Amino acid sequence: MRRGGDWLWNRGRVQMNAHKREYLSLAIRAQSAVRFLRIFAKARFGRRLRACSSALICGFAALLSGAAAACKGTVYLTLDTGHMGPAEEIAAILKKHDVKATFFLANEKTLRGGASLDRAWAGYWKARVEEGHAFGSHTWRHWYFRGDAGERVNYVPWAKAKGEALDAQALCAELKKPDEVFKAMTGRALDPIWRAPGGKLTPNAIKFAEACGYRHVAWSDAGFSGDELPSERFPSDALIKKQLANIRDGDILLWHLGIWSRKDALWPKLDDLISGLKAKGFCFARITDHPRRTR
Ligand SMILES: [Zn+2]
Repeated sequence: MRRGGDWLWNRGRVQMNAHKREYLSLAIRAQSAVRFLRIFAKARFGRRLRACSSALICGFAALLSGAAAACKGTVYLTLDTGHMGPAEEIAAILKKHDVKATFFLANEKTLRGGASLDRAWAGYWKARVEEGHAFGSHTWRHWYFRGDAGERVNYVPWAKAKGEALDAQALCAELKKPDEVFKAMTGRALDPIWRAPGGKLTPNAIKFAEACGYRHVAWSDAGFSGDELPSERFPSDALIKKQLANIRDGDILLWHLGIWSRKDALWPKLDDLISGLKAKGFCFARITDHPRRTR
């Protein structure tokens, strides 16, 4: 992205940091000037000049917001459902940093009993909708796609040998159910995106989902948080350090709303990761804002 323009963006950013105060005072002065122009235009020249001052206002606004929004790159934080233990805390971290993320939702068993798409979670999901995040399907039952057989795909529960062979219609229903339940709870449909449990795909799963209107979203190697890895072998600080060193522009980050197996949870460090990436000049966006969503 913007390969040729990187240097300019970087320069813009450095300059903005060095002259932060000047920018602030410029913004305040611009606001006052715009206010004066409005009053002046109203009093003396009527409609024509008012239109002119509006154009000036827009120009100033674009200039100022452009300066504030200079990003060294954009990364896409995605959060798959899990046991939901830290769901509120993670939402608070996102809010604190004003980060818009993308949630992939399956009806998963939760720590407090019930499942992540029960009515009991309606308030949680509504609040996330109000914050302006993006949402995709993570299947309803969170089973795994384990190979194709003719015009079907094998869909198998975790640690089981056998499951169901889904045809295109059945797979579509499996993706649509979280969508319907989410819409009934929040009034908003999911975005037309999905993520296979464990990221495990087959050609039929991709094809059936696309025919059903859902595009698959994977994640980047550098963006794999490791929140599902054993903490004995993958300590939190080392995982975050590695990500801060390796994440690049355009990367898709993978985290979960609660992991059953990890002893020392990684999620409190999401705060540090976001701070660190922002300090490096990265901005965060929803996957639906991604210029080239790939599988
Ligand atoms: Zn999952």
